[in-house]
Amino acid sequence: MTPPGLPVVLPGATIGIVGGGQLGRMLALDARRLGYGVVVLDPSSQAPAAQVADEHITAPLESAEGLAALAARADVITFEVEHTSLEGARAVEALRPVRPSPAVLAACQHRLREKTFLRDHGFPVAPWREAASPAALEAAARETGLPCLAKIPFTGYDGRGQARISTLDDLPAAVALGFDRGPLVIERYIPFAAELAVIVARGLRGERRTYPVVRTVHDEGILVEVSAPAQIAPAVAERARGLAESIATALDVIGVLAVEMFLLERGEILINELAPRPHNSGHYTINACRTSQFEQHLRAICGLPLGATDLLQPAAMVNLLGDRRGPARLVGVEEALREPGVSLHLYGKVESWPRRKLGHVTALGDEPEQALARARRAAAALRWEPVASSVRS
Ligand code: AMP
Repeated sequence: MTPPGLPVVLPGATIGIVGGGQLGRMLALDARRLGYGVVVLDPSSQAPAAQVADEHITAPLESAEGLAALAARADVITFEVEHTSLEGARAVEALRPVRPSPAVLAACQHRLREKTFLRDHGFPVAPWREAASPAALEAAARETGLPCLAKIPFTGYDGRGQARISTLDDLPAAVALGFDRGPLVIERYIPFAAELAVIVARGLRGERRTYPVVRTVHDEGILVEVSAPAQIAPAVAERARGLAESIATALDVIGVLAVEMFLLERGEILINELAPRPHNSGHYTINACRTSQFEQHLRAICGLPLGATDLLQPAAMVNLLGDRRGPARLVGVEEALREPGVSLHLYGKVESWPRRKLGHVTALGDEPEQALARARRAAAALRWEPVASSVRS
């Protein structure tokens, strides 16, 4: 029995998704499988999620009118991206349940607020300072110690909006990031042994389900590979899961929360970033877990029982990134799919550009190494070909 006062959203109702990228697309696909209607807010007429939604509201994510139109059509509002207008999210909260809440978005969409939240709740983070001027930047770099990274507070993702300061001669590049979006975060560079990620789902009644700890690999700030489970000492995995669970509770998040972490040589864990939504590090769950992160997010925001998070088989995921600008199509699909245990996920993006996330492959294996080798071989067999030249040939 659902406790009274908790509005459960049952299949047949409509999910409103802010953002129409690949995360929204995979969320929409699972929503439709569960029997929900889907309406997506995204400025692009070719948004990946819009292709699989019932309805598409073509408007900027921050637009008050767009959010109001979404609320008018949906029974519950959620996000595939946390960079939306807080005012807009608060305004629609009066009309429809907004899950996760605007307060969670506020904490996670801004690096300074996120770091402050983590520090104030006693979670371990890399030493950091804020800097609102070139002089403050130099002082912050000296205080955190070199090398360090300067990061813009908003909308920096996939490594964009960051500058590395190895010596004080690098300060001008960091100053060039600009202070117009608010103070920069200056953070000590952490020579981590590995990067880890944990996805935890939290339901309306505060119940939690946690996925296995995975190992992630980034290249110039972009996630390129995920290995599940991470091959780390059980005590470290336990601590990583425990940290993610405590953060989800402290944040009072409804839905899935991805927690990215640095694992240091001696087993210490530092929290790097939070994302209160499905995350690239959890794509493997579609093929390898009993409940995908997308279904889990829907279950959580709809007030349904959370699903089992068991890993059915070791898995690996490799992102398929674009290499040049222009329309592109994927070649090498037959060869990639000949690899055992491989699934291909394409996002329906018409335009490619360098390092744009266009799809991913997931591979299952008997061991994590086998899964990773399979996923890498499949990804290596695939490449993007410009559409114009393929028409001529
Ligand atoms: P972020 O956007 O802050 O998650 O950064 C993207 C990636 O850049 C991370 O996943 C790391 O690979 C790298 N990175 C970010 N901050 C640090 C840091 N303080 N020390 C070392 N690497 C970092």
